[in-house]
Amino acid sequence: MENSPIAFLHARLEERERIAQQVIEHLAQDGKRGFDLSQLAEPVRRHVNLNDPASVLADVAVTRRILDDHGLEIWEGGTWTEEQEFHGLTSEEFCRRCSYHEGVGSYRYGWCPTVLLLALRYEGHEDFKEDWRVSLSGE
Ligand SMILES: [Zn+2]
Repeated sequence: MENSPIAFLHARLEERERIAQQVIEHLAQDGKRGFDLSQLAEPVRRHVNLNDPASVLADVAVTRRILDDHGLEIWEGGTWTEEQEFHGLTSEEFCRRCSYHEGVGSYRYGWCPTVLLLALRYEGHEDFKEDWRVSLSGE
C-alpha cells in the first residue's frame, strides 16, 4: 500500500539499516577507524555510544516486529463509515492487534496509534503525511 505509514516506516528502517551496515563494513576494513570518541564531551560520547550501528540494527529489528504485529487486516462484508476516511484509508482496514474495542464491542478502522506514533518519529521527513500526525500526549 503506497503512502501508508507502514510503507513509510519500512522505507525509513531500510535507510537506517543500510547506513548502519555501511558503518559496520567501513570499520571492519583494515586500517579504517571511526573517530576518536575520547575527543567528545561526555554527554556526546554517551549519546554516540548508545546509537552505535549494532543498537541501530537492533532498533530496526524491533520496530519491524512491531509493524508486523500492527499491520492492517481487511474486513470484508462490512460497511463504509466516515471513521474509515480518517487517515485517508480507502477500504475497510483495521489493525490486526489493537483495533478491537473491548468495551464497545466494535472495531476502530484505520491506522492504529502504535503505527502512527512510530511514524511520528520521522515527522520532519518530506514523505511524512500530516494525516498521520497524532499527539504524543494521547489526547
Ligand atoms: Zn495496532
